[in-house]
Amino acid sequence: SSNNLQGYAPICLGLEDFYIRRLYLRIQDCFNRPIASAPDAWFDVVERYSNDYNKTLKLTSNTSRCLNLGSYNYLGFAASDEYCTPRAIQTLKKYSPSTCSSRVDGGTTLLHNELEECVANFVGKPAAIVFGMGYVTNSAILPVLMGKGGLIVSDSLNHNSIVNGARGSGASICVFQHNTPSHLDEVLREQIAEGQPRTRRPWKKIIVIVEGIYSMEGELCKLPEIIAICKKYKAYTYLDEAHSIGAVGKSGRGVCELLGVDTADVDIMMGTFTKSFGSCGGYIAGSKELIQYLKYTCPAHLYATSISPPAAEQIISAIKVILGEDGSNRGAQKLARIRENSNFFRSELQKMGFEVLGDNDSPVMPIMLYNPAKIPAFSRECLKQNVAVVTVAFPATPLLLARARICISASHTREDMLKALDVIGRVGDLVGINTSLLNLRSC
Ligand code: PMP
Repeated sequence: SSNNLQGYAPICLGLEDFYIRRLYLRIQDCFNRPIASAPDAWFDVVERYSNDYNKTLKLTSNTSRCLNLGSYNYLGFAASDEYCTPRAIQTLKKYSPSTCSSRVDGGTTLLHNELEECVANFVGKPAAIVFGMGYVTNSAILPVLMGKGGLIVSDSLNHNSIVNGARGSGASICVFQHNTPSHLDEVLREQIAEGQPRTRRPWKKIIVIVEGIYSMEGELCKLPEIIAICKKYKAYTYLDEAHSIGAVGKSGRGVCELLGVDTADVDIMMGTFTKSFGSCGGYIAGSKELIQYLKYTCPAHLYATSISPPAAEQIISAIKVILGEDGSNRGAQKLARIRENSNFFRSELQKMGFEVLGDNDSPVMPIMLYNPAKIPAFSRECLKQNVAVVTVAFPATPLLLARARICISASHTREDMLKALDVIGRVGDLVGINTSLLNLRSC
């Protein structure tokens, strides 16, 4: 059932044999012994030719330079940056790559405190806590926030880190139809009588979890409607902004800024630093009391090594650039560029007759292939022409909703995009991706 598979699992970056490898592993599992010819790795190694991340992806199975349309490098910070890189290098020299300590055992430097303050200010919340990994932020926080007697109501296409965190919490879980506020309303109505005070309900606590931009759909969350429903049923909102923070909104502050939502209406704001900020780690932002509670109780804060100092510096510096605090207007230019690039690329793909999911302003653009058999051919033919795209199929998507997922960056030039459009157009014709074909979605 799709419920069992919710959350995205595998993505193959131009790797046609990914599914064959997966099958080998399954067969090995079944027979409980290794198969002599089973491939030893799931993914090919990706290397950079130079520091220009968008144009220099190299796969060891295909040793040519490729245009990278697969990474979440939304603002182009995942490359050498005149402001961020020297600061990250200086921090590396000062602190080394790791604190080798947890936050409470000597792993909190002034930089960690500065990062938390900087993130809280940027996302518009009183306080924040940071972790060394985005995935762990969701999977470790949810079991601290929720437990037996609580109810988690989760969008059906939420990320695997949310699914794992929800399952690990011991709370009851309900799934509502992807980005469908009316169904969320129905689910909550079934679970509680409308308007009852929190203390008289069958659940100790209810939390509704959504994402700002859905990474495989390219869709913006219907946040204002979802918040209204949460208020109606007195449920807490948890917003994962992994793909939207830094990428959308006038000053890069994510979907709240883009959709005119007051951040005070979102109880728990989560995000990662691995996309727009070109770094690593994740954060939770919320009230001072919430963050204080997490700092005292969350095992990933107490027992895991703190975020790497150069990574922390990269985030602080990237936020300064975004806000223009580096003394330049590069941040504003990047934000204008990601929006312009995303809207240009999406509308060109649509004009070419592709079925593209998602909303305007979103840098994530899934092109529907439907038939999973088209995945290897699409990615292989694009790679042959030096364009690397991510293709996604079952179980990351429903069986007949396979897709290629394009991520656009502020550092893609108009020339890069025209080249990519030309290649995708030709490969689309070759592979037979035509919206006039039987649309399996409507079956
Ligand atoms: N949340 C969402 C919505 C994601 O898409 C991802 C990964 N892309 C994560 C959390 C995990 O973040 P990270 O890759 O930074 O660990």
